[in-house]
Amino acid sequence: MEQFRMDTYLESLEYLVNFDNGSYTPEGTAKVAEFFQQKFAANGWKTCLHKLPTEKVGPCLQITNCEDNDYDVLLLGHMDSVFPVGEAVKRPYKINEQGIVTGVGVSDMKGCLLAAYYALVELKNEDKLGKGKICFLLNSDEETGSMYSRELIERVAANAKHVLVIEAARKNGDMVKARSGVADFDLQAEGVAAHAGVAPQDGSSAIHELANWVIALHQLNDYAAGTSVNVGTIRGGAARNVVADAAFAEVDVRFRQESELQRIQSAFAGLSNKSFTPGGAQVKYSFRLNRPPMNASQQTEELCEAVSGFGREMGIHFDWVATGGGSDGNYTAAMGIPTIDGVGPVGGGGHSVKEWLDTKTVEPRLRLLQKMILYCIDR
Ligand SMILES: [Zn+2]
Repeated sequence: MEQFRMDTYLESLEYLVNFDNGSYTPEGTAKVAEFFQQKFAANGWKTCLHKLPTEKVGPCLQITNCEDNDYDVLLLGHMDSVFPVGEAVKRPYKINEQGIVTGVGVSDMKGCLLAAYYALVELKNEDKLGKGKICFLLNSDEETGSMYSRELIERVAANAKHVLVIEAARKNGDMVKARSGVADFDLQAEGVAAHAGVAPQDGSSAIHELANWVIALHQLNDYAAGTSVNVGTIRGGAARNVVADAAFAEVDVRFRQESELQRIQSAFAGLSNKSFTPGGAQVKYSFRLNRPPMNASQQTEELCEAVSGFGREMGIHFDWVATGGGSDGNYTAAMGIPTIDGVGPVGGGGHSVKEWLDTKTVEPRLRLLQKMILYCIDR
């Protein structure tokens, strides 16, 4: 019967960190799934692999202690990272004297999955779950917006009473009760090609048109309201001496309120009704709601308060924050389920080569997670 032990935790973490698990590296995420499937099954949990409707990403893993689907607690985690193949060889598992581990996906989120594993198996092995119905759902494409797993998440969450997203706590220890919504816009500018020396006036520059959009879009930023608009990529044109007939950009929009998304959408619509460029170059755009905003409901606030109380009792200090980053908690919060996030160990530097996990926080945070789970069962 498995109990939390730091040496075995680190051994498993080293194994997990030392292979690639990018969202589009299905054999990598499948390896994470296989690892946890075996571990949970060995401790008497039911496990089920869900293939997604594409070969591009690996399977999802559902772990439960019951046959029903009205879970008291649904834990959400993801098995993918943002890194390309080859990263794990470049940056293998490393631990320093302060107990800080670095490596691919160490806090986002292999180290968090592992902490949740110990939290759950201990509770079950010690017979503390009683009639509590628990599900732990691990998806394989969270970092790319859960495009293929969203339906599964919403199906599994449909009758859940609480959702705990086991992302790492912020670097100062804070947890997350609100996240921005995310909207993706793709821009496609169409102009008229012409020789830049012989007859530039016969052309209409797609790049000039798109550049005007970029300036106008960045003016929509309202950080105080939690709204950000970022043109993240731009490309276009055929050659230096050709008036560009095509240009493209990808825009990331974050928002907390539906009204802000509407403001942004009408700005896009307004821009598309005109042309800034002689000759009539124009931009067409498409829109996709990547994630709805996760706002704290009254029930979520109550849950946060209870968790803060446990923290005080245990001498663990943290606050609750809103963040611009999205997670699968956005989906479950939008379904009206009390959802909190960042309940894993403390880490930081996510999505960068500096990513780290503080292993000194693993045991205290997993004990806190156990209290949260028991509280949700009793509630
Ligand atoms: Zn993550």
